[in-house]
Amino acid sequence: MIVLFENKEECTGCTACKHVCKKNAITMQTDEEGFQYPHVDEKLCVNCMMCVKVCPIKVDKQEDKLFQQQVYAAKNKNHDVLMSSTSGGMFTAISDSVLAHNGYIYGVKFDENLNVIHNRAETAQQRDEQKGSKYVQSDLSDTFIQVKNDLEKGKQVLFTGTPCQNAGLINFLQNQKTNCANLVQCDFVCHHTPSPLIWKDHIHLIESKTGRKVVKYECRSKVKGWHAHTERYYLDDGTDSYKTKLSQNFTDLFDSALVSRPACQICKFSGKARFSDITIADYWGIEKCNPEFDNNTGVSLLIINSERGMKLFEVIRHKIDCIESTFEDAFRVNHSKPSKAHPMRKEFWEDYKNKGYVFVLKKYVDYSIPGRIYWNFKKIVRPVLKFCGIRK
Ligand SMILES: Cc1cc2nc3c(=O)[nH]c(=O)nc-3n(C[C@H](O)[C@H](O)[C@H](O)COP(=O)(O)OP(=O)(O)OC[C@H]3O[C@@H](n4cnc5c(N)ncnc54)[C@H](O)[C@@H]3O)c2cc1C
Repeated sequence: MIVLFENKEECTGCTACKHVCKKNAITMQTDEEGFQYPHVDEKLCVNCMMCVKVCPIKVDKQEDKLFQQQVYAAKNKNHDVLMSSTSGGMFTAISDSVLAHNGYIYGVKFDENLNVIHNRAETAQQRDEQKGSKYVQSDLSDTFIQVKNDLEKGKQVLFTGTPCQNAGLINFLQNQKTNCANLVQCDFVCHHTPSPLIWKDHIHLIESKTGRKVVKYECRSKVKGWHAHTERYYLDDGTDSYKTKLSQNFTDLFDSALVSRPACQICKFSGKARFSDITIADYWGIEKCNPEFDNNTGVSLLIINSERGMKLFEVIRHKIDCIESTFEDAFRVNHSKPSKAHPMRKEFWEDYKNKGYVFVLKKYVDYSIPGRIYWNFKKIVRPVLKFCGIRK
């Protein structure tokens, strides 16, 4: 019998195994934490082992010793693009150049129910829906098959996603002997991917507290500047809200690593060796090494990992302001090693199963009544202290 993974840390849910199976013996099934895992139907399986061979957890990336990676701090020159992007608007600059050749962009958007899904954009308008980080594991569905079909039709394709999704995609395409000359892969420095189930609980709680439907969500609004991690939601009555304890709950959960996929805790895709052509991220720390480049509107870290990435970089060069940088200046803790598991992760999920979402919020991210009063108190007092010059 095929064993795809012994424990959940060994599966990123990338779907490569599902799509490589010629017998359709593998389906993705959602577990009690809301993450998808492959399930093998023994009656259909013929033990060809393709699914094991294509798994990015089991196959190692050989470092490309011929290409010297290049590191930059970069910002999109277009102010509107910059302000509507999470960091420095590199995704838009890169995807614009692919759209200019009638290429397709694979990225992540919210569907009409705020589920986080991978999809294909054929126009700038569709691509704009993919802008902005959604700090939730995306549903890849049949994306790998669509990418393969598009490449086989000779289309230019940009795929954006987590480092593990990129690794799964290239393993799958190589297994299928797909010509990848027209494929550009873009990943990002990934803290970890939180549970889609907890994400939906977060949205439902906002809806039950406000009595309205959430119609739009920004995981990282720049309304308070790039440095402030601000979540902002928009309701169906035209109002919006940000920097309240209710909206920031998900940031607290994201930062805590209580709700990330188990595989993130031992992620083998963090670090310098990349499966992608270009890596994008927030350039945290730019205010220390190049303060003149940071005006709190967002700076991207841009790492060029291959010749193909370099060619694309040269094409977008005139659309961005950028300065050369180094790994030493740019790398933060989670750039080179996985984010640590929270020591109370197991207890959190036990409590969640037995007592529900609001209970775990109160217990683990202080959504209690005193916690909320203190939070709102800080929110009022801080600007007053700033105004009086007592606080920066
Ligand atoms: C789950 C997650 C964790 C991250 N962790 C870090 C981190 O620890 N440190 C850091 O510096 N940067 C991190 N980033 C990257 C950062 O938030 C920005 O996405 C990145 O800098 C690109 O910004 P931009 O301004 O160029 O483009 P934006 O316009 O903001 O583009 C967003 C890009 O991310 C893709 N995307 C959005 N949500 C998802 C998702 N759920 N899964 C896969 N792809 C997605 C979109 O398709 C698009 O390509 C993370 C992003 C995500 C989604």
